[in-house]
Amino acid sequence: MQSLINHLNQLQELLLIRDEHRTTGDGRHMDRLNDSIEQLTDMLPVEMKSLYLRLYKKDHIVMAPMHNGCCAICGMRMPISQVQAVRLCKQIQSCPSCARILFEESDAPKWIGDAPSRTEPRKSGISRFSAEILMVPNLKAHSAVEAIEKLAKVMEEQNFISASDKLVQSALEREAVLSTAMENGLAFPHVRGVEGGGLTLAMGVSKKGIPWDDAGKLVNIVFFITIPTAVSAFYLRLMSGLTETFLKEQNREAILEAKTSEELWKALLKATRYSIK
Ligand SMILES: [Zn+2]
Repeated sequence: MQSLINHLNQLQELLLIRDEHRTTGDGRHMDRLNDSIEQLTDMLPVEMKSLYLRLYKKDHIVMAPMHNGCCAICGMRMPISQVQAVRLCKQIQSCPSCARILFEESDAPKWIGDAPSRTEPRKSGISRFSAEILMVPNLKAHSAVEAIEKLAKVMEEQNFISASDKLVQSALEREAVLSTAMENGLAFPHVRGVEGGGLTLAMGVSKKGIPWDDAGKLVNIVFFITIPTAVSAFYLRLMSGLTETFLKEQNREAILEAKTSEELWKALLKATRYSIK
């Protein structure tokens, strides 16, 4: 059963990567993604396949991580017996409220930050997902691996996300399916399924450029993002907002000029003040 859950999660990830590629990619890899999706779908047992397709028609998130005994997508608290059944993983368990397929990954990286304080004013724009302490000007890295390792470490050291090793591994698995490097020297390495808090963004900048992938793309601005599964659709909007912002050369220049975390954070706030709500 665990291998079936892994298979379903792999399929879900590919479908979400296809959505990303559709939103912000150049469409060049669509055929390859479609082929892999078709293959993985056809390998499912017949009944599972029809269940999957039925759920996918309703929403692109079919797989629901269980977090603290709740469905991480709709928030429904499971009865104890079902929590145990999901852990035992002997049969497919569906969320009693949203019908998605439940699974638990106990060693997945998790949000470890503070809950938002009730007395603080509500944050807006990019500061809902990031902070000055997650800004890394002068990111010293010679490859995507090194860049991702450094930014994941920052997230862990600043008490946002646990298990940076696992985080790096997941981000690299994602890169292996389809590089997140884009035109204009941007890259969006990310990890979905980091539950327990909000979407989190760390940013690293290299003036010289980091050789990113086999295609030889040089990346200057790295957005490393962890995403709770439930906000996968919002992530697409954030990514397209950032892409749009940094299509403008003046915005890229302002980011590349920043010498300290404080300057970088100010430049990011300024550049995104209209594009990220
Ligand atoms: Zn649910």
